[in-house]
Amino acid sequence: MGKQDLDVVVIGAGFGGMYMLHRLRKMGLRARAYEVGDDVGGTWYWNRYPGARVDVESMQYSYQFDEELQQEWEWSEKYSPQPEILRYAQHVAERFDLRKDIQFNTRVTAAHFDDANEDWLITTDRGEQVRARHFVLAVGCLSSFNVPDIPGINDFAGDSYYTGKWPHKPVDFSGQRVAVIGTGSSAMQSSPEIAKQASALTVFQRTANFSIPAQNRPQDPDYVAYVKANYPELRAKAKTIYGGVVDEFGTAKALETPIEEIHKDLEARWQKGGLTFLGGFTDMLTDRQANEIAAEFAKNKIRSIVKDPKTAEMLCPKNIIGGKRLCVDTEYFAMYNHPHVNLLDVQETPIERITAKGIVRGGVEYEFDSIVYATGYDAITGSYLRIDIRGRNGVELKDHWDAGPRTYLGLMVSGFPNMFMVTGPGSPSVLTNMLPSIEISVEWITDAIADMRAEDKKLCQARPEAEAEWVAHVNEVASKSLRSTVKSWYIGANIPGKPSVFMPYLGGQPAYLAKCQEVVANGYEGFDLT
Ligand code: NAP
Repeated sequence: MGKQDLDVVVIGAGFGGMYMLHRLRKMGLRARAYEVGDDVGGTWYWNRYPGARVDVESMQYSYQFDEELQQEWEWSEKYSPQPEILRYAQHVAERFDLRKDIQFNTRVTAAHFDDANEDWLITTDRGEQVRARHFVLAVGCLSSFNVPDIPGINDFAGDSYYTGKWPHKPVDFSGQRVAVIGTGSSAMQSSPEIAKQASALTVFQRTANFSIPAQNRPQDPDYVAYVKANYPELRAKAKTIYGGVVDEFGTAKALETPIEEIHKDLEARWQKGGLTFLGGFTDMLTDRQANEIAAEFAKNKIRSIVKDPKTAEMLCPKNIIGGKRLCVDTEYFAMYNHPHVNLLDVQETPIERITAKGIVRGGVEYEFDSIVYATGYDAITGSYLRIDIRGRNGVELKDHWDAGPRTYLGLMVSGFPNMFMVTGPGSPSVLTNMLPSIEISVEWITDAIADMRAEDKKLCQARPEAEAEWVAHVNEVASKSLRSTVKSWYIGANIPGKPSVFMPYLGGQPAYLAKCQEVVANGYEGFDLT
């Protein structure tokens, strides 16, 4: 067996890759991370579009692994803007001296398991090859931005922008006629900011989406002091909550509650703002009738905000609420009251093509100076499948995942020894507070590597039957939720040809964490350590 250059190769220097590197180095391992961008931050490095901000409160959307770090960092707003989150990532990189082991401006193109040497051969787009015992994918869930398949997309003579790969220098839309394609979270955050500059803004909407006002505000110093004084308890409490976020959640069923009480709760949550709008009752995402009450409430809000009744009706979603991920906005619906903002439906009358001058829809050419594509991501699996990953006997990951992602606990894939995933498909990831979910993954993986080394084990691999059982469980839990009935990026519906499988684990963070811990307590049940 030949020697390895490194103990561990990590792909990605977002929040997952950074913490991974930190833990591995503390264990005394030789580790290197490869990163496409020229700095740390991952999703928050790329998503620099105007209005980009987190929609889980910043005091909780942050690392907890280092008490001094969480005490010293000051978040300026309830939902901090992207530049501040990027500064936080940079601060963490400096504080723990991470950059010296990150190779930036480098894309890993291939990772092949070498059966003879029992290690991973990693190839980059710079033509380098390195061998490592372990290989960790910290590639993010929403990092492969989607270029829509619209004819003529390269013909446009004006400027084209993708929210998922925004330029590093500020973009000035002043005096411009701007098109935004898409009405997901990224479009809802960016459009009101673009409308402040543009002379005319046209939003192309395929599916109307629900959004709850952010009600963002500067941090309240008393709240900050309270959280900082109680961080360990609050973080521990968050681990017992489905989404990994401490908030107020109800325990009653909407269908067993008088309608006035439900409306009172929804109104309070609308005024408070944010993603927990459906959190007052336990049946909002399992019972259609309960869901309909909340959906109607949110639609009536749209009708009360948007003055033109035709535009208001176009903005009212036809789907259940919360089936697609809820958006959180600042003045998105109110933006349509400005005379220079226009909404066009592209569901009944789709975009036909892009031309040098603009966008053709229904035989009409709309002319623009800039087009903003807020068209989402090849979510959850996209960033894995862009890399040529081959496991034992040359089996390709794309073939193993041909009918949808198959993992054990979202951490490992059978037939791919020593390949670990941070918040991989089949883990709760995007359905929960990402930072704590990342920490759960990273800590499990690094503890597993430490245990392997302590017991002189070279390889860790998921058993096929454990993987099959977990996949079946992930599917079963998903089938009980109304979320699995809606065409969303959770099930790959936004990418033509992608298998229709609910990819994240809907069982919640506490159940997932308990399972991960139980597996270890039972001697790495479902894994072979050899
Ligand atoms: P998204 O939710 O997938 O939205 C993409 C939008 O583009 C949809 O409205 C989609 O319409 C539309 N679209 C795609 N292809 C199109 C085409 N060919 N023609 C017309 N319309 C097209 O993507 P996103 O807004 O980037 O958000 C993705 C996820 O990232 C969010 O759900 C959230 O989890 C996360 N995110 C979070 C934040 C935050 O923390 N604040 C901010 C942004 C994003 P259809 O719906 O009809 O497919």
